[in-house]
Amino acid sequence: MQASSKGNIFIISAASGTGKTTLVSRLTQHHDDIRVSVSHTTRAPRTGEEHGRHYYFVDTAEFEKLIGESAFLEHAKVFDNYYGTSVEGVNLLREQGYDVILEIDIQGAEQVRRVWPDVCSIFILPPSFKVLAERLTGRGTDSPEVVAKRLSKARREIEQAFLFDYVVVNNDLAEAEADLLSIIKSHRLKQSSQRLFVENLLENS
Ligand code: 5GP
Repeated sequence: MQASSKGNIFIISAASGTGKTTLVSRLTQHHDDIRVSVSHTTRAPRTGEEHGRHYYFVDTAEFEKLIGESAFLEHAKVFDNYYGTSVEGVNLLREQGYDVILEIDIQGAEQVRRVWPDVCSIFILPPSFKVLAERLTGRGTDSPEVVAKRLSKARREIEQAFLFDYVVVNNDLAEAEADLLSIIKSHRLKQSSQRLFVENLLENS
C-alpha cells in the first residue's frame, strides 16, 4: 500500500456460524496493514471478550446518545441488541493508511453502500446448512432456542448474498483466507483506489 493513499473499506458479512470472525482475525494477524473496525454494542460480553478489543460494550442509553450525535457510520439492531460502526474509528484507521474491515450484518452493509457506493463487499458462505448447524451447536455459546433463531435467520441472510460483490465459501480456513486476500489485493489495484498515487506521481513528475 502506498503511504499517500487512504485505506480502503471492506464489508464482510455472513450468516452466524460461518466462521467469519475466525477468518477475519487470521487475516489481520497475518497482514498488519489490515485492521478490523471495533464496533459498539449493547450486547453483554461473552467469556473472553474484552472492551475495546472485541467490541466497545455500552448500555442502551449510551448507544442511543451516540446515535443522536451521528457517531455511527451505520447501526442496526441484531438479535435484540444494538451494533454500530464508529465514523471516527473508521476514519482514523483510514487516515493512517490501513485497509479497514467492517465485520457487520446485512442491514449495516446496506447502509454503508448508501454512503459509499464503491465500497467492496464480501459475503462468506458455509459449505452447507448441515455444516452450519453443526458449527452453531458445537460452539456451545448459545442456547438451543438461540441456535434455532440464528439458523432460520441464516437462511434469510444467505438469500442476500446476491447483493454482495464477492462470495467466499468457508470450507477450509486457509483457502478462504487466501480468497479474501486476493479480493483485497485486487481492490487495492483498482484505478479508483490508486487515484491518489497516480495524482502524486503526476504532481512530482
Ligand atoms: P455477535 O453478537 O455474534 O458478535 O454479532 C452478531 C451480528 O452482529 C454479526 O452478524 C455481526 O457481524 C454483527 N455486527 C457486529 N458489529 C456490527 C456493527 O457494528 N454493525 C452491524 N450492522 N452489525 C454488526
